[in-house]
Formats: sequence, C-alpha cells, structure tokens
Amino acid sequence: MSSVSPIQIPSRLPLLLTHEGVLLPGSTMRTSVDTARNLQLVRSRLLKGTSLQSTILGVIPNTPDPASDAQDLPPLHRIGTAALVVQVVGSNWPKPHYTLLITGLCRFQIIQVLKEKPYPVAEVEQLDRLEEFPNTCKTREELGELSEQFYKYAVQILDSVSLEELFKMTIPLLVRQIEGLKLLQKTRKPKQDDDKRVIAIRPIRKITHIPGTLEDEDEDEDNDDIVMLEKKVRTSSMPEQAHKVCVKELKRLKKMPQSMPEYALTRNYLELMVELPWNKSTTDRLDIRAARILLDNDHYAMEKLKKRVLEYLAVRQLKNNLKGPILCFVGPPGVGKTSVGRSVAKTLGREFHRIALGGVCDQSDIRGHRRTYVGSMPGRIINGLKTVGVNNPVFLLDEVDKLGKSLQGDPAAALLEVLDPEQNHNFTDHYLNVAFDLSQVLFIATANTTATIPPALLDRMEIIQVPGYTQEEKIEIAHRHLIPKQLEQHGLTPQQIQIPQVTTLDIITRYTREAGVRSLDRKFGAICRAVAVKVAEGQHKEAKLDRSDVTEGEGCREQHILEDAKPESISDTTDLALPPEMPILIDFHALKDILGPPMYEMQVSERLSQPGVAIGLAWTPLGGEIMFVEASRMDGEGQLTLTGQLGDVMKESAHLAISWLRSNAKKYHLTNAFGSFDLLDNTDIHLHFPAGAVTKDGPSAGVTIVTCLASLFSGRLVRSDVAMTGEITLRGLVLPVGGIKDKVLAAHRAGLKQIIIPQRNEKDLEKIPGNVRQDLSFVTASCLDEVLNAAFDGGFTVKTRPGLLNSKL
Ligand code: ADP
Repeated sequence: MSSVSPIQIPSRLPLLLTHEGVLLPGSTMRTSVDTARNLQLVRSRLLKGTSLQSTILGVIPNTPDPASDAQDLPPLHRIGTAALVVQVVGSNWPKPHYTLLITGLCRFQIIQVLKEKPYPVAEVEQLDRLEEFPNTCKTREELGELSEQFYKYAVQILDSVSLEELFKMTIPLLVRQIEGLKLLQKTRKPKQDDDKRVIAIRPIRKITHIPGTLEDEDEDEDNDDIVMLEKKVRTSSMPEQAHKVCVKELKRLKKMPQSMPEYALTRNYLELMVELPWNKSTTDRLDIRAARILLDNDHYAMEKLKKRVLEYLAVRQLKNNLKGPILCFVGPPGVGKTSVGRSVAKTLGREFHRIALGGVCDQSDIRGHRRTYVGSMPGRIINGLKTVGVNNPVFLLDEVDKLGKSLQGDPAAALLEVLDPEQNHNFTDHYLNVAFDLSQVLFIATANTTATIPPALLDRMEIIQVPGYTQEEKIEIAHRHLIPKQLEQHGLTPQQIQIPQVTTLDIITRYTREAGVRSLDRKFGAICRAVAVKVAEGQHKEAKLDRSDVTEGEGCREQHILEDAKPESISDTTDLALPPEMPILIDFHALKDILGPPMYEMQVSERLSQPGVAIGLAWTPLGGEIMFVEASRMDGEGQLTLTGQLGDVMKESAHLAISWLRSNAKKYHLTNAFGSFDLLDNTDIHLHFPAGAVTKDGPSAGVTIVTCLASLFSGRLVRSDVAMTGEITLRGLVLPVGGIKDKVLAAHRAGLKQIIIPQRNEKDLEKIPGNVRQDLSFVTASCLDEVLNAAFDGGFTVKTRPGLLNSKL
C-alpha cells in the first residue's frame, strides 16, 4: 500500500500510570483517573489543549504500593504503550473523577524521566512501527470509531507479507479473542438471566487483561466496597421507601463497570443515603435555669432577646413539640444573633449548623439537583444533616432577608416547604428523591431587616428585634467576651497584654462605626496579632540574653526596659533591645501604631458652621446613623434637585417640607436671595444627603429637611449638638417614626446632646438605657413650630417686627 505512512509518536510523552490493566497496541480500554498525578495530567493535557499531540499519552502499568509515599513517583515499568485518548468523561463532585477511553497505538521504551511533578513526563523511544491508514484522519472522533479501525487493522494483517509482521499483528487479536470467550463463559455461568450489559461491556474491559496482573485484585477490592455498602444499607435504619431505592440502586451498581461515570455517581448517592442520620438524634436536655445561666454567661446585655428565647424554650419544654412559629432574630450585623442561636443549641444539647442564605437565588441550593444532571448534588439542608450526623440539630438560617430570585426558581418557596410543620416531615430533596423527615430540626432565622423577607416566610416567623449596643454596652462586651476570646485565640495571657477601658472606648469611637461589635472584635484581633509578634520576639531575645553576656548586668537591662516603656515601644523595639516589659500596655500611641490613624474623627460642629445644614437620624438595616442634610440655593426657575441615594418617600418628604415652608415664609420671615417671600421665585434649591452608599428611605427625614431649609432661608445656624427625626404633614404636624432606640444610640455615639423626636414616640424612650438617657436631653414635638424652636439657639419663632410688616402692608 503506497499511501501508508508509519505512525510517529512524539519523543516526549506525559505518562499515565494505570493500575487497571495493561494496554496493548491496537486495543482499547477505559481507565479511571483518580490519583492526584493522573488528575493533573488530565487537567493540563486533555481538558485544556485541543491539539492531537496533547492527546497522545504514554500508558505505563503500575502496581500501587500502599507502603510508598503517594507524593513520590514509584519505580516505573520500562515499557509502556503510547495511547490516543478517544474520550474523556467525568464529574467534579463530590471529588474529581474522570474516565478515559484510550486506544493503544504502539509500544515505547522510557529512556529518561524528564520531570516527575505534577505528573511524569519522559523521553521515549518508539518500539513498534504501526502503520497509519490512508483515510484515518487525525481527529479524536474518527479514531473513536473503533469498528472502522479494527476493520483496517484486519486489512493490514491481510496485507502483511512477512511472517514476523503477521504474528505481530494477529497475536494481540487472538489474545483478546480468547479472553473475550473466557469471560463470556464466566459471566454466563452464575447468572443466566443477568443484564445483557454485563456481557456487552465486560469484554471490553477484559480485552486488556493479561492473566496474573492486578486486575483481579482490583476487582476484589471493588467488590469488597460494594459488599460493605450493601451491608450498610441492610443495617441502616432508613425508612422502608428509602431502603427500597437503595436496594434498587445497589443492584444497578453491581452490574455497572467501575469505569462508567455513572458508577461513581450511583456509589456517591448510596454512600450519602447510608450516611444520612435517618434515625439518629441527640437527646434534648433542657433545664430552664441552666439555660438562663448559659445565655447570661455567653452574652452581655440583650435582655429582651434572652427573655424571649427562654420563654420560647420553656413553652417547648411544656408542650414537648416543635410546631409553632420559627424564631427570627432581626438586627444589624455583629449584635450576636448567630451567637445566641449557637447558645440555644448548646442549652438543648443539640448540634448546631449555620446555613448561609445570603445571595442564594436558585431553589436547588435548598432542594438539591436532580440526579440526571451532571455534577448534581443535594441541597444545603440535606448536606447540613449529613454534616451534623443527627436528625434534630439547630439549623440557623442566616440572612433570610438576602434570599434572591432567579430563573432557577424561587428559593423562598423551597424554604417555606422546609419550615412548614405540615409539610416538612416528608421533605424531598431532588437529589435524594426520597422523603426525609425534618420535623425534629429546630430552625432559627436571622435577618438584618424584615423589609426584604419574602412575605410568606415572614408569616411563619416570630420576629425578635435585636437592636445595636450603646458605647457602654460595647465596652462591657469587649472586656467580658471579645478580648478574652481574642487572647485565647492568639495564645496570649493577661500577663502579656493589657487593654484599658479608655483604649476600648477610643477604638469604639474613632476606629469603628457600627451598631454591633464585629469590627470592634476584628480590631482586637489586629492588636493581638501585633502583640503576639512582640511577645514571640521577646521570648527569642530573652533566650539569647540568657545565653550571652551576663556581665552587662542589671543596670543595662533597666535602661532597655525604660526605652521599651516609651509609647513607640510597639513598633520600635529593635533586635538590640531587651524584651518588652510585660504586660504590653495598649495605649493611645500603641493603638495608632497598630491600627493606623483614627478613621472617624467627629467633625459635627465643623460641618454645621454654615446655614443650610441640619443633622437627622436615619435607620438602616445596619443600625441607626446620623445623617447630615445639606441645602443650597441658586438663581433658577424654582427647581428642586435632590442627590444622595434616595428612595421615593424621601423625595416626597422634601416636597412636603418646601411646601410647608413656602406657606409659612411670612410667619417666619423667610425670604429668598431677592427678598421675596415666594421662596422658589427665581431660585433653585439643591438638597443633598451625604454618605451616598446607603439608600435612605422612610419619611423620618421630614423634620430635618424643614430645619435645614429654614436655616438656609433665614441665614441662621442650626445648633450643632442637635439631631432630629420625625415625619411631617402638609399642615406642619409631626408624626411618629420607627427605630427610635437605634437612632438615639447613633446620636449618642456621635456625641450629640439634644434629640428632637415626635411627641408620640415619647414612650419609646423607656427602651433607652439609663446611662444614655442621662447624657442626652430630649425634646418631644407635636408640630414643626416646636421642632424649629428647639433646633435654633433662642428659638425660631419671629417676634413681630412692626416696621417690616407695615412695609409689606
Ligand atoms: P450577628 O449574627 O448578629 O451578625 P454574631 O453572633 O456573629 O453577630 O456576633 C459577632 C461577635 O460578637 C461574636 O463573636 C459574638 O460572640 C460577639 N457578641 C455579639 N454580641 C454579644 C454580646 N451581647 N455578648 C457577648 N458577645 C457578643
């Protein structure tokens, strides 16, 4: 045949070490890729490149040696078979597993291993000269059509003239034929009625099997695994329906060749089924007195929340069932919602598991993927149960207010099914496809705000508000809980580091601005890290000193300690210095050294040095905040411009405020730049609400906008220590608003002194801790007159000025 050219394999080949049999030239086998080395090879040679070059591998039979280190390359068999990869199949879950379909081309001999990691590559010498056929195009697909190749192989045998060549061609085929026949005999014997697939598939695997190789052992091992699995299914306490499914799947598994991708999937499924805690639970222990002590020990303040949680637990104890609303803790980040959830689990002696729902927008996150889907897996509920290993844990559904929605279905609906006591005793995860009883799980939810919790879910929940902390509460929390925890985590003791309360206050006011204590906690972490370095260095130096110069004497040591005691000590100790004096005191200077310059310096009075600025109080999901409202006016046509991330309600409040001021301009003697009582005459107004990242909605800025504009048009400064909140009506009444406690705490954090609130909110002041109330004075206003009188020094009501009135008359 004139057009025949010999196959030339590359002189360098990546090596695939396989323990699933020996590949011979001209034969085909499936091999599963599960070692780290082979996975690396598949990833970088087969899943990235597309050239044919990259799909030729050197296949080396390898005997796994359990004693050898998996990291090291085992001694390699010198001769292997160059193979063409026809197909790669596999999945990445729960662990990466691929199966390759490979066809042997010709044998080669390793001359030298060029590199060992991440997978071996060797310089090789081709041993057989296989002919390539005229029409065999070098594409995977065509070479994948095996029957055609065998046909051509046979033609080639026919054409072989020399006897030697003929033997070379026919012997592998004969071996395969014999093996195939033997196997057929073997499989027919025990189970006559077996699925045809066994017969159809097994011979292909066996083609490459040479008696006496590893394959027998391998299969035994595999069978052992299945026997184990079967035993687990038998002894598992799963319900009957689940048991039936498992038995069916086991049957299927037994008939599948191991290299089939579905094999791994079915096995994973069965492993999950036997691992799930169908009937395994912890015994509840509940002693309300002990629970109270535990909650108190773990959490400072939060009296209302702790009280409500205890009530909930007590009722559960009496009723002895879980039906009833789901508790949902709503409050800013870092106020201890998760931590209370954990304590509830601890008091009940239950396992705890947190399921983060923030950003979840696919219902299969909750309910799993169907198993027909590649890479399918169970949802977070079933996964959580597998993790905790019991069927009655406490599940904390974190951030239910941040559930999304997408084309993949509404996760809130799936969650509803999970939470509904009528339905959740047979919750069906798509992956499991059999019901699991969730009725013993205790669910607790958390959220930053109720506004975005889907209404149907909200309906099932009992909301418990967890407000932010006062400065004093934060100091107590820091010293009772956060600092001791951080010290322990960093291996420090109070003998090594000391953080006085004034430093904590400094961190709270100048390095954090939050309702909870999360950043505060992080700052302590940073301090501990810095101190840990110093302490470790100190120990090193001490060891050095002990060893060296004793003659230096005590005097010298004292001098160093004095140097160390200087404020810069944290950063300035050099290698020459002696270890720092213990405990290392974290003072103002050390703080600046570790955390950098303060991030929040109060500039309230600076900002109120011009007319047209007032301080309002806003409520955001992150807690209360003070909010500056700024206004300016310019020549124009009566336009109102609003900037700073506003919701619609805020815009309405601004319009209301302007209308009210326009209608009362004469009364307060407010004029525009041209002396006209028509404030918008030839005048544009721009209102700005800085700190633009947070959307500010809600009507409570009404009084602040009025005050700010009153200041702008009167040219008078608003008092710099006053903050206010309240909704307004067109007639100048002040209506009550929400979030008073958070707002008051924010004003207190900001160092303000007087707070104007709607009269009908007076009752809310009872919730404000005594020490905060002491520092502040409150004005309760039922109409805008009262607001303005309190906001300006000396009041705002204009005394009648006869001259002025006369001139207008
Ligand atoms: P959330 O879930 O509300 O965002 P976390 O429960 O994660 O907040 O709390 C953050 C950290 O603050 C935790 O280490 C927690 O123990 C601590 N913490 C919060 N509030 C208190 C408190 N009242 N007493 C003790 N520690 C608290």
